[in-house]
Amino acid sequence: MTEPVSEQCLFCAIGAGEIAASVVKDYEDVMVFRDVSPQAPVHLLVIPKAHHPNLDEVLRENPQLGVRLLSAACQAANAEGLESSGYRLVANTGSDGGQTVAHAHVHVLGGRAMAWPPG
Ligand code: AMP
Repeated sequence: MTEPVSEQCLFCAIGAGEIAASVVKDYEDVMVFRDVSPQAPVHLLVIPKAHHPNLDEVLRENPQLGVRLLSAACQAANAEGLESSGYRLVANTGSDGGQTVAHAHVHVLGGRAMAWPPG
């Protein structure tokens, strides 16, 4: 079930401006901010302002919002100068996916060569 904002959700609070973050883009429905523990020279998080537990649920409930997240992620990567060098988008989902914050988000990682397979 999707709620507009979940009171106990960290990323809902960041999206609502109640908890400070290093905000890169603040759209009506989506926010882009820098990860507090960067794993690459560029490490951004792209979130919907409405609460969704993960990207899988976003795409089932509101496919257009899923496209918005991916579009905002690519635009943010390009704005960081990653267009020619490349970058990685990651959406950790659930426990095996390594998701630690239960609010949908897409990681934008760039500024160094990424390894594969991921850990
Ligand atoms: P995940 O493990 O995929 O759920 O990603 C959650 C990400 O949120 C991690 O990379 C954390 O470093 C990041 N994070 C946690 N708290 C904050 C915060 N207050 N501001 C920015 N990034 C955060």
